Amino acid sequence: MALTGVEIFKLLPKTNCKKCGQPTCLAFAMKLAQRQASLDQCPDVSAEAKQKLGEASAPPIRPIKLGTGDRAVKMGEETVLFRHEKKFVNPCALAVAMKDTASGADAQKLIDAVLGSEIDRVGQKLRIDAIAITNDSGDPGKFEAMAKLVAEKAPAVAVILSTTSPDAAEAALKHFSNKGAVLYGANASNLDAMAAWAKAAKATLGIAAASLDELSDLTEKAKAAGVEDMVIDSGARKAGEIIRDNTLIRRAAIKKNVKSVGYPVITFAMRDDNMLETLVASAAIAKYSSIVVLSSMEKWKDLALFSLRQNIYTDPQVPMQVEQKIYKIGEPGPEAPFMITTNFSLTYFIVSGEIENSKVPARLAVLDSEGLSVLTAWAAGKFTASKIAQFIKESGIEGELGGTKELIIPGYVAILSGSIEDKLEGWKITVGPREANGLPAFLKSRVA
Ligand code: SF4
Repeated sequence: MALTGVEIFKLLPKTNCKKCGQPTCLAFAMKLAQRQASLDQCPDVSAEAKQKLGEASAPPIRPIKLGTGDRAVKMGEETVLFRHEKKFVNPCALAVAMKDTASGADAQKLIDAVLGSEIDRVGQKLRIDAIAITNDSGDPGKFEAMAKLVAEKAPAVAVILSTTSPDAAEAALKHFSNKGAVLYGANASNLDAMAAWAKAAKATLGIAAASLDELSDLTEKAKAAGVEDMVIDSGARKAGEIIRDNTLIRRAAIKKNVKSVGYPVITFAMRDDNMLETLVASAAIAKYSSIVVLSSMEKWKDLALFSLRQNIYTDPQVPMQVEQKIYKIGEPGPEAPFMITTNFSLTYFIVSGEIENSKVPARLAVLDSEGLSVLTAWAAGKFTASKIAQFIKESGIEGELGGTKELIIPGYVAILSGSIEDKLEGWKITVGPREANGLPAFLKSRVA
């Protein structure tokens, strides 16, 4: 069970030295009890206290790493039930299933699709993170052959090996020793052998239970067999069951500190119907799954799930912003269009993306509006004529521009054009389109 703040306080040095960033040891103890601090922030804690507090200060959901190197995905470490309480920490990994019955050409096609799945959205790289090789053939030889192919053709991609056969597990794991793989498929009848192979390859063990009760039993048995890193599956497959079980697991781990379910959840969302699969995967992403396995990749499906995942795992307390400065898009000459917008990341990336689409080199001034979009910033008094004029004057941009000093403002703040002109002597203020998607036509018409 978790220790209370007072119980933790009794184990701390009680010198109130503030090295942990808290005013007193009691305040630090309370933060630890709420899992809002980490024990290593106190440099003077004794070895004995460390051992006793280790469990209390450990995250309620064990941190696990899927894969290695640049493409490794961190999972677990979550501390809250609801995003608004603090934030969700590690975005769920998306995996695509690859049957070991697939032809070499189909397997290669899927590998290429995974490797080419990365997109840049609001400055973050989003992609399909892993391949889940499934032992549909039931043949250890075929399973190993597919594992070997993936290991050779996509060595950087994280892998989930899904089989209930210890022989197939042993054969395939040879190609993923020490590579952060997940060996999924440990159940009541194969647990000891699967645990042994996972340990030998330093892989995470995926527990495949048929109910929540069985899940809890199996993780305890795996732990007793020396397995520390696990991902868990209660057997839920319907959307309603996934939401129910994942919620019960998260609640038990976080509120009751039930260690036997304190592991990242893996969910198999595969369906014949792509739309239904996307909806089931969305429910799993929104409700606590750490790995979601899909049956296939489709551009529209990937984009929908990437965006949902990104939105859910964005810290709600930190506005997404870009730096205030004047950005060059392409190689703008002195007469190139000069525009202004706010520093909300989504605004910046959408506007700059549309300018790129226009193929018209331009300058884009980004004013610090504390991460608010254009209309909100204007309404909040953070995107005003005075602020815009001051920014433009202090930026030194005048020296870079040719004879015509023209600033294009977003159509939504057309009302500001007169007052900006009053404050920026010698400048012409032009009202641009209201929506960013109007920019390509607007810019092209100016250079035509
Ligand atoms: S660093 Fe340790 S000893 Fe110092 S105030 Fe924090 S908890 Fe207390």
